[in-house]
Amino acid sequence: MIASDLGGIDTGNDGALAGCGPLLSNVAPVARPLRHVLFDHVRAQGGTTRAEMGRALGVSAASVSAVTSDLIADGFLRESPVAAVPDVENPRIGRGRPPVELQVAAEAYHVIGMKLGDLRHTAVLSDFAGRRIAEASMPTRPNRKSAAILIAEARALMDKLLAECGKNRRDISCVGVGMAGMVDFATGSVAWSPMLDAPSTALRGQFETALGVPTWLDNDANLLTLAELWFGGGRSKSDFAVVTIEHGVGMGLVLFNQLYRGARGVGMELGHTKVQLDGALCRCGKRGCLEAYVADYALAREAATALDQHESLSESPLALLESLFVEARGGNEAALSIFRRAGRYLALGLSNVAQMFDPEVIILSGGRMQYDYLYAREVLSEMQSMTLTGARPPARVEIHSWGDLVWAQGAVALALGALTEQLLGHSATRGSAA
Ligand SMILES: [Zn+2]
Repeated sequence: MIASDLGGIDTGNDGALAGCGPLLSNVAPVARPLRHVLFDHVRAQGGTTRAEMGRALGVSAASVSAVTSDLIADGFLRESPVAAVPDVENPRIGRGRPPVELQVAAEAYHVIGMKLGDLRHTAVLSDFAGRRIAEASMPTRPNRKSAAILIAEARALMDKLLAECGKNRRDISCVGVGMAGMVDFATGSVAWSPMLDAPSTALRGQFETALGVPTWLDNDANLLTLAELWFGGGRSKSDFAVVTIEHGVGMGLVLFNQLYRGARGVGMELGHTKVQLDGALCRCGKRGCLEAYVADYALAREAATALDQHESLSESPLALLESLFVEARGGNEAALSIFRRAGRYLALGLSNVAQMFDPEVIILSGGRMQYDYLYAREVLSEMQSMTLTGARPPARVEIHSWGDLVWAQGAVALALGALTEQLLGHSATRGSAA
């Protein structure tokens, strides 16, 4: 399927470069090279003139001119004439040199973003400006928990995606891959994942070998956070949290306009914070995790009891959850009580996030967000009532529903960030990318 309009994501496929990437890239506490700042600014704006860039970033015309000349010579930016706007009152204005806009050389590089999931894998192919060129998805083999199968499926998905748009592996400069679990972005190792039967110290290297392209690996909640930071509601915010309740409970945190990954590379695991001593068993093996009360698989487990469908649980937990949702909509009290209880636990989790990080906004984000009982007005008001705010207004919560490709779109941001760092020549370590 060729790229189409998918809710929430501005694909910019109408020909104009709509821009992607953080809009506040110069707020980081560590100074970035001017070359990076200017390139990121052009990509975030979609296109801009040298004069606008100088004004926006407070950089002298001479510096802008020198650095952008280098970026053009390197093939990262290009010049494009700006359509002249006739001035009827002053027809003489505009007769001089026509204004020129700088844009990212979009076709110079291509990346792939991939989300590997329990039931389905999705992928997006994007150009260097962040425009979506093609997308693909495929069902996964049920109940497999093997790195070898996962890698083979990723390879098959990549081939399918390339076939969609008539490209081949040599056209791809970087692949970003996201999966659930404790994924160390810097080392490419996975300490735990519900998708693997054992930890892996070299999973990224195995992906790279199989895909034949430099590959980066990250936690799927980080992908969602990058999707918000590069393409969504987080583009103009410097500090915010993203919480997702799809495929488990995940969280990402942006500080100073950059994704925070924690000192040891793994970052936030909101789903495995404890909300009950000796509580329900989580798929991580521990008890009392938030995820064990809120995640789709946890609800499916309760749905099997409420709907008396134990035998169907292992076959299709999502179908079971859909049935539960339909029952709740129809007024089934047992089904409603399951969603309400999960909503109260989510309120507890969100309150803890607000209390610990004091973010500008908590974005409750995901592909479908279809189970609206979980983030109903009562849930958010319970979250506010649990949170100590004093005289200040309570933390703001926004709900974003994107469509199924949001995870892969976040993986595109991961790949674009890593590739840009590498190309512009400042990436000393993998850990500094994205
Ligand atoms: Zn857990």
